[in-house]
Amino acid sequence: MKVYISVDMEGIGGISHSLPTDRGDAGYPAAVALMVGEANAAIEGAFAGGATEVLVNDSHGLMFNLTPEDLDPRAVLLQGQKPWSMVAGAGPEQGFEVALFVGYHARAGHPTGTIAHTYSGEPTLTTLQGRPVGEAGINALPLGAWGVPIGLVSGDDQVALETEAWFPWAEQVVVKTARGRRAAASVHPTVARDRVRAGAERAVRRATDGGMQLFDVGRPVVLEAEYRHSLEADFAALVPLAERYGDRGVRVTTDDPVIAYRAFLAGVRIAGLAA
Ligand SMILES: [Zn+2]
Repeated sequence: MKVYISVDMEGIGGISHSLPTDRGDAGYPAAVALMVGEANAAIEGAFAGGATEVLVNDSHGLMFNLTPEDLDPRAVLLQGQKPWSMVAGAGPEQGFEVALFVGYHARAGHPTGTIAHTYSGEPTLTTLQGRPVGEAGINALPLGAWGVPIGLVSGDDQVALETEAWFPWAEQVVVKTARGRRAAASVHPTVARDRVRAGAERAVRRATDGGMQLFDVGRPVVLEAEYRHSLEADFAALVPLAERYGDRGVRVTTDDPVIAYRAFLAGVRIAGLAA
């Protein structure tokens, strides 16, 4: 049982504000320690549930946050500037059987979710098949196509609702209650880790028993992003298959979920170049 774990930072218990998620902030090392704690809890739970191999993809910011010497030595750690970002290393040739999303957060434009965003500061709303979607749902597109089911999402109570809406079979682990864009009521880190560990164990066990489903939204896949201003949208619309809609929107329509993900990610990255 090969388990893929993608770890973001904004949805980790005890993190309530975006400032300490930035490596230049004085609170960053403490935020990293919280991230390591939940990553280790997920690894421990995965092995307790029957994992034989675990790959941890550091999925926040510059993507080299986790301190390697502090991580459970049974896991392999993927870090650095990865073209495939939050789903790097999970491609079809790798044979992962379940994916766990740890420290995830609500989508861009969410009314109450803590540090809600989708991939960067540029999108103000992201939708899939016309419904609001966040990073978990967008990342699930290529993973589903590669045969990897989403087995767990951890974060605040609002990302749990997103999980419920898109992959009701997945384990939902809530480590904090959102109190607005830059506030959260968190359980103690030891409680958060217990919840993540237990959830990961259940998820891997259920995946082993065939209890998880591949994410499939049907065809065509319609993935949209609205941007803060029109130049960002103009830049994002340079991506092949992309088209402008509305005032600041960019839509990709394709029968291939992996192409949808690539076009979205490329669009967000190019939009970041529009001053
Ligand atoms: Zn994120």
